[in-house]
Amino acid sequence: MAARGECTSSLISIKEFKLQFQELDLEEMAGEMNVSMEIMTDLTEVCSPSNLKCAAEPESLESIDIFKDQIPEGVELHSLRLLKERKGKLTSHKKEVNYIVKEVAPTKEPLAFEEVKTDEVILSVAIYHPRKQNKVQEFLVLGSQCLTELRDKIFCTADGMILGDHSENPDALSQPTAKENFKSGFFFIEGVFYNDRRDPLSRDYSKVIRDWAKDPQRRKCPGLGLFTSKRMEDVVFEDLKIRLGYPYLYCHQGNCEHLIIFTDLRLLDVDDERNANEYPLQVFKHRGKRLRCRVCDVYTARWVTINDALACEDPCFFCVTCFKGLHYTPDGEKICDFQAYPFVGDFDW
Ligand SMILES: [Zn+2]
Ligand SMILES: [Zn+2]
Repeated sequence: MAARGECTSSLISIKEFKLQFQELDLEEMAGEMNVSMEIMTDLTEVCSPSNLKCAAEPESLESIDIFKDQIPEGVELHSLRLLKERKGKLTSHKKEVNYIVKEVAPTKEPLAFEEVKTDEVILSVAIYHPRKQNKVQEFLVLGSQCLTELRDKIFCTADGMILGDHSENPDALSQPTAKENFKSGFFFIEGVFYNDRRDPLSRDYSKVIRDWAKDPQRRKCPGLGLFTSKRMEDVVFEDLKIRLGYPYLYCHQGNCEHLIIFTDLRLLDVDDERNANEYPLQVFKHRGKRLRCRVCDVYTARWVTINDALACEDPCFFCVTCFKGLHYTPDGEKICDFQAYPFVGDFDW
């Protein structure tokens, strides 16, 4: 198995990786290690994880509660004796923590539980910013999941934009977002374009590129050649052949291009999330930087204006209050000529 985070240029078939790992047995391992089956059996018994347990160890980790009086008498460990002395304090602290967590945690409907298959392959996929090229999100995806399931979890401010000049009607923002209007997009992985064609109105963005690359002169250039295309919704990650650490492409909204990198490929671990419905599981999201209003410098920018005589720069960002107060009369009339666009990117990464 490739080491975690290791950058390698060799092509890996995810399906074959899974099968290879399943076929390992004792005889094969004995051959690999050049030892007899007798030694191999001894080694298996000696190295079994069950040997790491002591007699008083609980069956499951969930039954352990350090706040209950479960620390046996006569324990010489200093940390455990201290824990026992501080039990009362810890109990009150736990209540406090629970209270804070309930206040802060978003109200999210729990997903239905579906056990992940034990032979699942897990991939780590990092998504990069289209302009700044820093990592903005990272997901764990299951080998059996469709490429569209990852696409639906990728966040980009280009998807949330409401198009058009809204300076005449700033209060009527019921128009659909760019994501609802323009659903086309593709992944480009190892010479294959995976186009999202779930919506009948979506376009094959890759066609113009594939036609361009067909030119006999261009075909000779390194990295170009005969590219193929597939429907993103028909392909699962197990069908892919990938290189770990190699940059691939996710393109949406016409020309918003994100690098994507598969950083790890491994089998399911005991520490992994067991609910298959939680995948693709976001394990990293860039904290981002809030873009503030250029007038009050306090509230988050919600509007951006161009050709604006009242603004100190072009384009200029405003919170809702400053935007309305500066550009409109109390009756809602425009004071001067400018174009205004809703700014939905909460954070400038
Ligand atoms: Zn984007
Ligand atoms: Zn403001």
